[in-house]
Amino acid sequence: MASELEPEVQATERTLLECSAEETAAKWLQATDLTKEVYQHLAHYVPKIYCRGPNPFPQKEDMLAQHVLLGPMEWYLCGEDPALGFPKLEQANKPSHLCGRVFKVGEPTYSCRDCAVDPTCVLCMECFLGSIHKDHRYRMTTSGGGGFCDCGDTEAWKEGPFCQKHELNSAGMEVEEDPLVHLSEDVIARAYNIFAIIFQYAVEILTWEKESELPADLEMIEKSDTYYCMLFNDEVHTYEQVIYTLQKAVNCTQKEAIGFATTVDRDGRRSVRYGDFQYCDQAKSVIVRNTSRQTKPLKVQVMHSSIVAHQNFGLKLLSWLGSIIGYSDGLRRILCQVGLQEGPDGENSSLVDRLMRTDSKLWKGARSVYHQLFMSSLLMDLKYKKLFAVRFAKNYERLQSDYVTDDHDREFSVADLSVQIFTVPSLARMLITEENLMTTIIKTFMDHLKQRDAQGRFQFERYTALQAFKFRRVQSLILDLKYVLISKPTEWSDELRQKFLEGFDAFLELLKCMQGMDPITRQVGQHIEMEPEWEAAFTLQMKLTHVISMMQDWCALDEKVLIEAYKKCLAVLTQCHGGFTDGEQPVTLSICGHSVETIRYCVSQEKVSIHLPISRLLAGLHVLLSKSEVAYKFPELLPLSELSPPMLIEHPLRCLVLCAQVHAGMWRRNGFSLVNQIYYYHNVKCRREMFDKDIVMLQTGVSMMDPNHFLMIMLSRFELYQIFSSPDYGKRLSAEITHKDVVQQNNTLIEEMLYLIIMLVGERYSPGVGQVSAMDEIKREIIHQLSIKPMAHSELVKSLPEDENKETGMESVIEAVAHFRKPGLTGRGMYELKPECAKEFNLYFYHFSRAEQSKAEEAQRKLKRQHREDSALPPPVLPPFCPLFASLVNILQSDVMLYIMGTILRWAVERHGYAWSESMLQRVLHLIGMALQEEKQHLENAVEEHVLTFTFTQKISKPGEAPNNSPSILAMLETLQNAPSLEVHKDMIRWILKTFNTIKKLRESSSTSPVVETEGTIMEESTRDKDKAERKRKAEIARLRREKIMAQMSEMQRHFIDENRELFQQTLELDASASAVLDSSPMVSDTALTALGPAQTQVPEQRQFVTCILCQEEQEVTEESRAMVLAAFIQRSTVLSKNRTKFIQDPEKYDPLFMHPDLSCGTHTGSCGHVMHAHCWQRYFDSVQAKEQRRQQRLRFHTSYDVESGEFLCPLCECLSNTVIPLLLPPRSIFNRRLIFSDQPSLAQWIRTISQQIKALLVLRKEESSSNAATSKNSENRNELELPEGFKPNFHPKNPYSDSIKEMLTTFGTATYKVGLKVHPNEEDPRVPIMCWGSCAYTIQSIERILSDEDKPLFGPLPCRLDDCLRSLTRFAAAHWTVASLPVVQGHFCKLFAALVPNDSYEDLPCILDIDMFHLLVGLVLALPALQCQDFSGISLSTGDLHIFHLVTMAHIVQILFTSRPEENGMDQGNPTSEEESAVLSLYRMLQQYTGSALKATASGWHLWRSVKAGIMPFLKCSALFFHYLNGVPSPPDLQVPGTSHFEHLCNYLSLPTNLFGLFQENREIMNSLIESWCHDSEVKRYLRGERDAISYPRGANKLIDLPEDYSSLINQASNFSCPKSGGDKSRAPTLCLVCGSLLCSQSYCCQTELEGEDVGACTAHTYSCGSGAGIFLRVRECQVLFLAGKTKGCFYSPPYLDDYGETDQGLRRGNPLHLCRERFKKIQKLWQQHSVTEEIGHAQEANQTLVGIDWQHL
Ligand SMILES: [Zn+2]
Ligand SMILES: [Zn+2]
Ligand SMILES: [Zn+2]
Ligand SMILES: [Zn+2]
Ligand SMILES: [Zn+2]
Ligand SMILES: [Zn+2]
Ligand SMILES: [Zn+2]
Repeated sequence: MASELEPEVQATERTLLECSAEETAAKWLQATDLTKEVYQHLAHYVPKIYCRGPNPFPQKEDMLAQHVLLGPMEWYLCGEDPALGFPKLEQANKPSHLCGRVFKVGEPTYSCRDCAVDPTCVLCMECFLGSIHKDHRYRMTTSGGGGFCDCGDTEAWKEGPFCQKHELNSAGMEVEEDPLVHLSEDVIARAYNIFAIIFQYAVEILTWEKESELPADLEMIEKSDTYYCMLFNDEVHTYEQVIYTLQKAVNCTQKEAIGFATTVDRDGRRSVRYGDFQYCDQAKSVIVRNTSRQTKPLKVQVMHSSIVAHQNFGLKLLSWLGSIIGYSDGLRRILCQVGLQEGPDGENSSLVDRLMRTDSKLWKGARSVYHQLFMSSLLMDLKYKKLFAVRFAKNYERLQSDYVTDDHDREFSVADLSVQIFTVPSLARMLITEENLMTTIIKTFMDHLKQRDAQGRFQFERYTALQAFKFRRVQSLILDLKYVLISKPTEWSDELRQKFLEGFDAFLELLKCMQGMDPITRQVGQHIEMEPEWEAAFTLQMKLTHVISMMQDWCALDEKVLIEAYKKCLAVLTQCHGGFTDGEQPVTLSICGHSVETIRYCVSQEKVSIHLPISRLLAGLHVLLSKSEVAYKFPELLPLSELSPPMLIEHPLRCLVLCAQVHAGMWRRNGFSLVNQIYYYHNVKCRREMFDKDIVMLQTGVSMMDPNHFLMIMLSRFELYQIFSSPDYGKRLSAEITHKDVVQQNNTLIEEMLYLIIMLVGERYSPGVGQVSAMDEIKREIIHQLSIKPMAHSELVKSLPEDENKETGMESVIEAVAHFRKPGLTGRGMYELKPECAKEFNLYFYHFSRAEQSKAEEAQRKLKRQHREDSALPPPVLPPFCPLFASLVNILQSDVMLYIMGTILRWAVERHGYAWSESMLQRVLHLIGMALQEEKQHLENAVEEHVLTFTFTQKISKPGEAPNNSPSILAMLETLQNAPSLEVHKDMIRWILKTFNTIKKLRESSSTSPVVETEGTIMEESTRDKDKAERKRKAEIARLRREKIMAQMSEMQRHFIDENRELFQQTLELDASASAVLDSSPMVSDTALTALGPAQTQVPEQRQFVTCILCQEEQEVTEESRAMVLAAFIQRSTVLSKNRTKFIQDPEKYDPLFMHPDLSCGTHTGSCGHVMHAHCWQRYFDSVQAKEQRRQQRLRFHTSYDVESGEFLCPLCECLSNTVIPLLLPPRSIFNRRLIFSDQPSLAQWIRTISQQIKALLVLRKEESSSNAATSKNSENRNELELPEGFKPNFHPKNPYSDSIKEMLTTFGTATYKVGLKVHPNEEDPRVPIMCWGSCAYTIQSIERILSDEDKPLFGPLPCRLDDCLRSLTRFAAAHWTVASLPVVQGHFCKLFAALVPNDSYEDLPCILDIDMFHLLVGLVLALPALQCQDFSGISLSTGDLHIFHLVTMAHIVQILFTSRPEENGMDQGNPTSEEESAVLSLYRMLQQYTGSALKATASGWHLWRSVKAGIMPFLKCSALFFHYLNGVPSPPDLQVPGTSHFEHLCNYLSLPTNLFGLFQENREIMNSLIESWCHDSEVKRYLRGERDAISYPRGANKLIDLPEDYSSLINQASNFSCPKSGGDKSRAPTLCLVCGSLLCSQSYCCQTELEGEDVGACTAHTYSCGSGAGIFLRVRECQVLFLAGKTKGCFYSPPYLDDYGETDQGLRRGNPLHLCRERFKKIQKLWQQHSVTEEIGHAQEANQTLVGIDWQHL
């Protein structure tokens, strides 16, 4: 790099390097004015080192700075060579017991859910693993950067504050000693001096605002005209905007612009131009002009180079300080002291203050450097942490205001340090008492929300984008408040009480601004024009929810505080609503002789607000009075007499009525905003401090007033008073049915009101309301959630409210109420309700939504029927109320309540048309049930002599009084029991009557009077019998009907299977045991099946019929008929590759004839097995294409398939396909129908004949090519050539296939060529046949591999789609030569043959080490017919097949022997014991002889034989598959079952001697010469000399990489990974390739590369080299598996990591520890091995269209 600098600069560098640090330091030690001396030094050297040209050279600058600038400082500080001085300091230091490790972005952090004081207390991985918490319930997250490890902080952990490592340092830490005692006086003095000067210097220069002028003492004498145009980042402009603007402004390439933009984004600023002032200023104005259109312009400054230089050095200094204080706690303390020392300007003039107060003016890079320094100094020193906290609190208002107007994210603001300070309990407490922090935070917050309405409430109506932005920022203040409150005091001092209450006052002020905000009025007639803003108010409420809860928690801890807070809250509420009775005349309501006065108010006509935080806070405090028993202990201190129940209930009641009316459809015209508000009001995020508290407030009110009065007020607010006060309502309605809507509305309102009463009486599970514990409350929530359906852990967590520690408390009770069901291969683990908990089910549980309620009802009734119980869902037995609420139950037996119940029952009995509904009745029955349960409880728990006041049973047995003389409620129930239309409610009514009798008995037994059967029971018994009989009859009918349907169904199914044979097979595949149906073996005896050669088992001709899935027509497969095709998908593959670095460089020139044994680039063909007519497919494809073109014109996005490259979806199963394979009969039998002599040549003879034929052909070819030039000589040469006997090179066989089949042969062949080589289609290309053979061989190899890996038998049940695919593919490859040029195929054969049988005509042949023998076999066998068809000598094709197979097999054995690795601890078996062993040894000796003993001599026969046997197995298996499909010989039964070795069976099937070496012995004469020629190849020699490598056999299985058991180690690995392109920068989306294990920097500009002319992200680029287009990745931060294929296709897949609840955590949102699930990982691996990734993507994209829109190529 130095060479790029100008010579002048190089000269300066040399002089700089001559500078001596020691001498400079010595000079400083002598100096009288050290500051001046140091400043002069800096003024002189800094601009010489930093920023000398357009591009900084950070390494060079740092090197020089260390030498010239920092070196002297270190010498000065140590007073000796720092190489000696620093280790001394380090040794003298007593290391801190705090870890304090500052987290990098993406680093894993751990929090203990059992022991952390709050969720912000975290550990680094190292500390976590050494702590006790690793065995606790912990949560794992990835850090967003910033923040540090809390290990060693005793305030952060309830238990185990130290890990093993830091425990050691904690000894004797109780006595806090001054760290300065470990330093000598001299060092202390020097440290003060130098720290003070350079810290001062750094602060001054970083906060310097002038652009071309330096501070006086740094100004240079001669100033050059060199400037930088400095671009600053903001969060407003996008990357694209910045890149575009830069290209224009500074004339750079896009790549450079991306570089600039990336740095600006990372560091906050970057110089984009260097030169004289004008040159830079020009760029500035272009940038400003270009970016100022919509928003404020980008910030650009033209800065003098010397200023930039000093600033860069200033940053360097701060980092240097950070590292220096790491040597010694004493130095750290000195730095803290220097930093916090008050400057000459008094208040706020310390260096730390100055930095904080200019924070928002600094650029990102500068901020993060000094924040880091603060964290490693001020926050690590216990004494100065306190002092710093005070400074921070004093500046709080200023810092927050700066932050709110600053446009950087919170993590870049010094305000973000609040979490480090406020969460320390002792600091928080100190700041509250000494700095009044609570009040400060709340007041600051209020100051930023200035928009108020006339009543002084917050107003969010006219809510602009800027306000929204500000509002988001202000919310962080609430977070601060939360931090301050998160740890609750254990002791209260008077000061704390006073300051807390002061803060509480401020908080009430805040809530007062919310009480009644966003009021709404019902819209009648017209729909509202604009949806009003509502979200802001709810956001505020949501953010405050925890704070409100915590305020209550604090109050609960101290009786005095609670009493004061209660008083204050009541006072504010009275202020808000005290005057609510003013104005209009009150109205008087009266029913049943009770009357009450109330105000006129209609929810449906006047303003109403959902926001009532003051009322709700008061409700919460009221419950605390009861829970803490303060209400009973100090009643005289409480203003209970001042409470006005009607005032308390008024607003909550209005809010609940509003909900009821919305539900009744009365507010439809108010639009969605209201619906949303009601939704959130009940939602789990808000309900705790909204809906729940409104219920409590009503409960409070009712318990303090006459229930009759309450009910009348309630009727009035529900606008139902009229209905219930005029007794003939029902009758009148049936007379005039005109207002159906109104009736419906009223019915709903009545239902809602009854529901509300049920809730008021039934909801007593909050501690303080009922006599329950917090556990009981959670248990009940869970029981009700699980009553709906079994749920996964995360679903349950989501349905429960979380506290400020993000805990629901669920885990402590879940075992008691539910069973856990483990997950399978898919899906999640589930919790199921224990049956015994079902009795606690309450149909009217208040947290059910409507949908949940009806689902739960259905589920519970179903359960009851399953257990053959009656289906009544009676109210559960409830815990008793706390004394403060005890009188609440009287509402059930109040006159008005009984009157309401009676009225509704009467309506039901009289059945007046519309005037009642079944739900109404159901609710009344439930209420009656509740009252009975209550009474029963009272009776059972009654203490002797105690007068029971709850006498519901007596009251309902009494008939109405004159003049109505209406029947009693009991009587009406008995009537209803027999109403035929009320079947559903019968069980419930029966339950009521039964319970009534039980109570009666109880009462009578307690009064010791004889038990008398009542009329009711008799009736009940008789009806029960009748009912039983009826049910039995119905059940019988149902059974008969079911049977009939079943019979019909199975008939239909048979039909269906006959008709949809193909379809049915498809479904059978899912069954692993399904065997290939099409392989209906012809009748061949099992004994001695032989797949090839003259002895091949003769297979009778089979006729094959298939049905086209498109036209449903059936057709026979013959060579003359129209072509039938299978949908197929061809793809390049590296799944079997042993060398992932290799890929086809230039496809146009690539020669695929010989496959290298590393199988680095194969072509795989797959098929879904669905058959179509070729012409039907063609028509289908054309229509798809046309449709796609039309669609593309309209919408411009990708589909899941790319028509342009021939892709389509199988019309039946939607499987991605890109071509079709024709269906064929075994092609060999067609070519073989010729006269064959019985006398067939031996291998040697055959090779000789073939060699002659090849020779003849080669001569002919040569002639032909020369004859083109001179035709005349032709005849002459021909005479010279002696043609072998029976060989007729002029003969051209007739193609046996129909035109349609020929066309399909060409189509598929061309497609294989096009995809396999990634070239333009060209059916004439000589490589087409090679690609077809190659794809056949590769596909067979990949399937063999899968079967072996899974230990499956070779010919076991194969899914029929695979079976079909392999059969068609093999037969196609065998028939393809008929459509290729004969000379071309012959040429291929000759060359392939020459690889084994030497021929002088070829020079560029690979040696046998570099040939994959199976590919060679397939090529030779499939090319042979092209030669054999011209041979009329009577040699059969099968003879050729057999000889080729034997020859290749022998070559493979030699290959294996060459490459076998000698056994390390050679178990020398001594003398060979078996035939094979001696044979292999003699063969091996021969090889040694031919290679001149270059082959190692040590191997034993036993070992060699073992290696050969193992090495050749895959080849034999592949060959067996190949010949099986080629010739259609059924597989031997032995090979259809699993077993370890089938070596002999394989050999028999393949017509091989079981002693393979017999082959060599039989053909000794020819083989010896062939082997010799193989051994003499120069490459083989090189290999034997160890100069090159070769693949050995068997090739190991390719697997996906090993993943760690614990997910956090992956996170940790990824957090250490930095982007390879942007110098040490942390990658934002580190992504792991599961195939090769590379980590990539995904989804980021920095790592985009160009691929085929397009920009692609790192993952896409990687797939091209690693997976030839397809890839499997793990996005580490998201814990998400990513499948990619091509540039446009991708999908996300469920990751193989599960938490203890059997759930994945995509996005890592929940943070439960994750562990590897091997089964799921295996499933992913299988998808990969089966080449199904692309198919999986296709299915995912079809199922989820949004996946199509994702920009996969940039990942
Ligand atoms: Zn740590
Ligand atoms: Zn530790
Ligand atoms: Zn713990
Ligand atoms: Zn068809
Ligand atoms: Zn299909
Ligand atoms: Zn890879
Ligand atoms: Zn990158």
